[in-house]
Amino acid sequence: MNRKDQLDRLGDSSEAWDVIVIGGGATGLSIALDASTRGYRTALFEQADFAEGTSSKSTKLIHGGVRYLRNGEIGLVRESLRERGRLLRNAPGLVEPLEFVVPAYRWHERFFYGSGLLLYDLLAGGLGIGRTGHPGRESVLSRVPNLRGRGLRGGTLYWDGQFDDAALALAMARTAVAHGGLVLNRVKVTGLVKEGGRIRGVEISDSQEGIERVVRGKVVINATGVFADEVRRLDEEGAEISVRPSQGIHLVLERRFLGGETAVMIPKTEDGRVLFLIPWKNRLLLGTTDTEGVEASLHPRPLEEEIDYLIRHAALYLESAPSRGDIRAVFAGLRPLAKPPRSKGAASTAALSRSHCLFASASGLVTMTGGKWTTCREMGEEAVDLAASIGELPTRPCRTHDLTLLISPEPEPGESLDPELPCHMGHVERAVREEMALTLDDVLSRRTRSAFLDEAAAMRCAPRVASKMAELLGRDEAWAKAEVAAFGALRTLDQSDPTSQRPSVADPEGS
Ligand SMILES: Cc1cc2nc3c(=O)[nH]c(=O)nc-3n(C[C@H](O)[C@H](O)[C@H](O)COP(=O)(O)OP(=O)(O)OC[C@H]3O[C@@H](n4cnc5c(N)ncnc54)[C@H](O)[C@@H]3O)c2cc1C
Repeated sequence: MNRKDQLDRLGDSSEAWDVIVIGGGATGLSIALDASTRGYRTALFEQADFAEGTSSKSTKLIHGGVRYLRNGEIGLVRESLRERGRLLRNAPGLVEPLEFVVPAYRWHERFFYGSGLLLYDLLAGGLGIGRTGHPGRESVLSRVPNLRGRGLRGGTLYWDGQFDDAALALAMARTAVAHGGLVLNRVKVTGLVKEGGRIRGVEISDSQEGIERVVRGKVVINATGVFADEVRRLDEEGAEISVRPSQGIHLVLERRFLGGETAVMIPKTEDGRVLFLIPWKNRLLLGTTDTEGVEASLHPRPLEEEIDYLIRHAALYLESAPSRGDIRAVFAGLRPLAKPPRSKGAASTAALSRSHCLFASASGLVTMTGGKWTTCREMGEEAVDLAASIGELPTRPCRTHDLTLLISPEPEPGESLDPELPCHMGHVERAVREEMALTLDDVLSRRTRSAFLDEAAAMRCAPRVASKMAELLGRDEAWAKAEVAAFGALRTLDQSDPTSQRPSVADPEGS
């Protein structure tokens, strides 16, 4: 997958595309994958990098959503479990089964969560991963040695899927390209082209080459997550709000704070939220939060109170509790919750469904909002079905049910980026040559995940990686320096003194 080839294809094409997709997150990529595998001429434009928005900042679970059982959303759970099974089959090496334990500190919790998770197993049917179990206290502690032992009665075991979200996004892009699709990052859609009141294409602006032009298409799909209403307003001035962002953050800690390979799910914290402690790569992810009333942003900042909340709750469940100084990285993402039609905005976002919303405007702009990584394949299928009828495309069946996703082959080993990071210069070369990485942040945040695993280590290797990228991209040292500065500005932890307690930039004075 090479950006120059993609640009050449765009330049050579004077014919209208069948389908144009705006947005290169989970939703847009799954739509582009569905459309290109049906044989529709498909082009996708992403204003930043693939998955640079919410899609690289998830909890990294392909799950049925145990928490939705509590709300009685059985249909959503069944649909998610079916898609979980498909993703495990279609993305081998990218989505893996992960064992979870729900610790019980009261006797009735074992029975309560045990029966709920039994239903979870039953709903998965033939696509189940592993069986629910009811380990005793010692068995739970052998799986999660740092779990608080005082008052522990035992627990419930269940299984879900785990993945690297940015890597899955890239695999979807690569597979769409292999099926004739065109995907371009750093290309923003700045306007919609209308003829006789119908949308017939988009105006694009390429931040790398400075190209601005019109691209014609039979149908245009808006898959821009929390930015969906901005795009809808290019179509209809004053369009009603359809997406409500809710921020969720994760802290990245050393793996020793878990101690084993089993994840922990706390179904109900003191204020009724769900908390996950998940082994991911060589680290532990602790999350998440649900903060309403935030603005749409590509790089939302974690809030002090969100970090406090997670640190405080980790201390309730772990024997050896992390402090702020133990945080290796923090990342924040915005859930693009679909706002129910005619809502007066009174419902809390934790109570809104994670289900998706699909609709078309009078001029034919198709918009898909909400949803989850887990259900994105099905979302892609539904969006393309609707788009095909609006664009009057020949009817063709969906092909993604059993489609195996293509992953980048492992590169030749190279010089290590940092002793704290599991990546080397071979990964940097692959990112630039084959994975359309254009900025230092593309490489360190989404191709190698370095900034998500250890911000200080990512900052340490940033100058070397930027110089290597400059060499590969034909840029100069001034470019490399500017990239290091831009990468540093996006970081959320204070790197000035890595041995001190690290406050987030949302509170640079510390507190
Ligand atoms: C904290 C958190 C944890 C989550 N955990 C999970 C989980 O464990 N499992 C799960 O299944 N789901 C999870 N989700 C949900 C899942 O991550 C999201 O539903 C999904 O990533 C949304 O993808 P999207 O493509 O709709 O949005 P985005 O990923 O935000 O993509 C939209 C893209 O559109 C681009 N764009 C915007 N405007 C334009 C324009 N004018 N031109 C071109 N491009 C444009 C943006 O740059 C952006 O990249 C989680 C979400 C959050 C916030």
